[in-house]
Amino acid sequence: MSNLKHIPPSDPIYISGSLHVDQARIAISDLVKDLIAESHEGAESGAIECITLDQAINRILAKDLLSPIDVPVADNSAMDGFAFHGDCLGQSEDLISLKVIGTAFAGKPYEDSIAPGECIKIMTGALMPGDCDTVIPQEFIEPHSPIDDSIVSFKANRVKRGENRRLRGEDLQQGKPAITAGRLLRPSDLGLAASLGISELAVHRKLRVAILSSGDELRPLGHALEAGNIYDSNRYSLIGLLKRLDLEIIDCGIVRDDPASLKAAFIDAASKADVLISSGGVSAGEADFTKQIMQELGDVGFWKIAMRPGRPMAFGMLRPVDGSSRKTLFFGLPGNPVAVMVTFYQFVRSALLQLNGASQTEPPIMQAIAEAPIRKRPGRTEFQRAIVVRGPDGKPTVTLTGSQGAGILRSMSEANCFVILSHEQGNVAAGDWVDVALFDGLL
Ligand code: AMP
Ligand code: MG
Repeated sequence: MSNLKHIPPSDPIYISGSLHVDQARIAISDLVKDLIAESHEGAESGAIECITLDQAINRILAKDLLSPIDVPVADNSAMDGFAFHGDCLGQSEDLISLKVIGTAFAGKPYEDSIAPGECIKIMTGALMPGDCDTVIPQEFIEPHSPIDDSIVSFKANRVKRGENRRLRGEDLQQGKPAITAGRLLRPSDLGLAASLGISELAVHRKLRVAILSSGDELRPLGHALEAGNIYDSNRYSLIGLLKRLDLEIIDCGIVRDDPASLKAAFIDAASKADVLISSGGVSAGEADFTKQIMQELGDVGFWKIAMRPGRPMAFGMLRPVDGSSRKTLFFGLPGNPVAVMVTFYQFVRSALLQLNGASQTEPPIMQAIAEAPIRKRPGRTEFQRAIVVRGPDGKPTVTLTGSQGAGILRSMSEANCFVILSHEQGNVAAGDWVDVALFDGLL
């Protein structure tokens, strides 16, 4: 399929017949790669910014974060117990008795020397004292024969030499990458950077993403509906989806279905944004005049994708306007509210992450057992809305959320996942395992 590269999005290969979702994804990814290469050539200024850790969640790391220190900085105890020199250990059940001559706390090391036959009471995280190399955990200490409180006894085979000790540099070595460029920063990454004493990170600047809704029937919130009108809901779904990715959103509102308004709106968006996402106006009946405008403004293909929901979609790029050198990536999503979310999930999300420098752009897929049969026709990829729960036997079980029409947003709102039925797949029987993509990640 790599032969799709270098074929412009408007090439008829994308239009004739239906495009497999994988082909569409490859074509999108290829164009994004080209845009990235071009923007590197142009060395766009301000593409990377330094921000403080507390601002960095969900941003994408632009440079490898090299650890300035070894972690841990010194050998320390992994357990609460007693530290000693492991020379005395063996395979037998024989008791070893050691004299406790002091205590090492995390943050308060024991600094004197330790002789054979002696040990130090030690807390988790405390530095290993002297040349001690082993920690016997508290729970392996024999119930005390209260001859002497300062003696601890344990069986020689309870621990191996060197156990229960964290070695210097075991997690991270000084000068090596602690987090590699391209990471979408999660809470644990902020914690990791802080643990290294790093307070600022170099991240890619936020992408500027313009959104607009097209359709004469659409009314903004706060306006009365007349016959045939509906509220514009897609912009709000899109705002929600984009906010999850922490982007700069440019809301271009509702645009009427007439060539002059659409053209003006596209030119305006292209002048401001890295990416334009529109919804509506790409289905067979409506696409004709949009196509004409797009021919003037850029290179855009009008695709029929073998998927449900979300069959029609426009994709390509808008040429730079106003003397700028930046092209604008364009997604013309279908108007149906569920189709908007599905096509965003399947095509737009990864492209935005890729364009913004992320190395991992695919959401995780898991599997669950279909609780009831699901009808499926081979020859298209389907995204059914569903709820996954842990079934009575402990296995994940998935149930569709009611009617699955492309306009029924409730099916989406009540769901916590997509059931993804692949292109070739036919009907699913109750009890079959199916692919599932959760809407929310855990962290
Ligand atoms: P279209 O792709 O423009 O033919 O629209 C397909 C269906 O989605 C029609 O029923 C539209 O009324 C509906 N639709 C289009 N845009 C929106 C929107 N922004 N919010 C809600 N529904 C929409
Ligand atoms: Mg329309």
